[in-house]
Amino acid sequence: STSTQKLKTDRSDALMRDAATVMPGGVSSPVRAFRSVGGSPIVFESTKGSKIVDVDGNTYIDYVLSFGPSVVGSANDEVIEAVTAQARKGLTFGAPCELENQLAHAIIDAVPSVEMVRFVNSGTEACFSAARLMRAYTRREKIVKMTGCYHGHGDSFLVSAGSGVATLGLSDSPGVLSSVAAKTLTVPYNNIDAIREVFRQHGSEIAGVFLEPVVGNAGLIPPTREYLQELRQITRQHGALLLFDEVMTGFRIGYSCAQGYFDVMPDLTTLGKVIGGGYPVGAYAGPREIMEMVAPAGPVYQAGTLSGSPVGMAAGLKTLEILRRPGTYEYLDRITKRLAEGLLQAARENGHAVCGGSLYSMWGMFFTEGPVNNFEDAKKSDTAKFQKFHRGMLERGVYLAPSQFEAGFTSLAHSEDDVERTVEAAREVLRGIAP
Ligand code: PMP
Repeated sequence: STSTQKLKTDRSDALMRDAATVMPGGVSSPVRAFRSVGGSPIVFESTKGSKIVDVDGNTYIDYVLSFGPSVVGSANDEVIEAVTAQARKGLTFGAPCELENQLAHAIIDAVPSVEMVRFVNSGTEACFSAARLMRAYTRREKIVKMTGCYHGHGDSFLVSAGSGVATLGLSDSPGVLSSVAAKTLTVPYNNIDAIREVFRQHGSEIAGVFLEPVVGNAGLIPPTREYLQELRQITRQHGALLLFDEVMTGFRIGYSCAQGYFDVMPDLTTLGKVIGGGYPVGAYAGPREIMEMVAPAGPVYQAGTLSGSPVGMAAGLKTLEILRRPGTYEYLDRITKRLAEGLLQAARENGHAVCGGSLYSMWGMFFTEGPVNNFEDAKKSDTAKFQKFHRGMLERGVYLAPSQFEAGFTSLAHSEDDVERTVEAAREVLRGIAP
């Protein structure tokens, strides 16, 4: 409901107090701890479609969707059926299964630059494995990444990273070997001059460039097509590889992913989230010539006990099957646009400086006039205001990512009614916050 519920959080609070005694910060992943929005995190019990229910019985419209995977709606009946049928046949083999072939074929058919796939268990694993492959293939060691982009928590990537690293205001992490971090060069996103300069200085040592082709981990920040084209050209010129980290954008920015949408082809692609349909599945992928360097076809070692496990493959396959149906991406684009435009309008009506937008099933709103073209711009956002907004929306039954520096998501299960109720809630909340 859009009326203010004085949120009852007794059970969530009690569980989080206990959790803090047995898990660092009480959580299994940092952003969940609500550090940047204040208050105690909500503990959840169930989710279905566009709704999520907490342990105190509050229901929310969910725009987090487990940080991306649930694009067909949470706990989709067809996905559950596929998963259950597979579970009865076996949870894990630690050996080849036919579902791996099927999901690999589905990904190759969908993602234009991909000819071969290696399955792993998370986006983190996909990214650090792809970095190893990139270095082996080029026999170079340096990697270029963009400030505010997040590529999981591999040592090479905890340098000016986005997501929880940005949310907690950390520049890097202790424990990362300085000799490894020194091989990561960072540049601002959407800045062609900065890329030219880093290649001018280090060109012959750069193995490749990593980026989110649409940034989600600093809030939503789209690239310009020219920027992606320039990256393509300059990496090729210097014998470096271009990697699109599509862990978040994969099968969210259209069925051919961001590379299809912008029509710029990377050498390597990392995937996660949607391709596991709610199970821990990641992948790195690319042309046969590069991928056949991976063991046992080639010398670059990478392995996993649960990699390609049948239940995750079944969930991913069914999710992609649903996404291939006619009209899915048109629906996602339309509903998400209406949401983003409604939120921006609700903010402006009440005198708030905002900017933002959406692309298919990803959306974002920054509390700053903008434009926001990179993390440096995103940091101008009024995070104190975001904190009040986040809390107000929770109290009105809308669950948003607990950080200004995370993209929002929608799913096929989000209805026009959900969107209208969300915009109405935002109007009430933003009316109550001083501009
Ligand atoms: N890359 C990107 C673009 C991501 O958004 C994420 C997760 N948010 C990762 C990598 C890491 O994936 P995981 O959390 O599955 O390790």
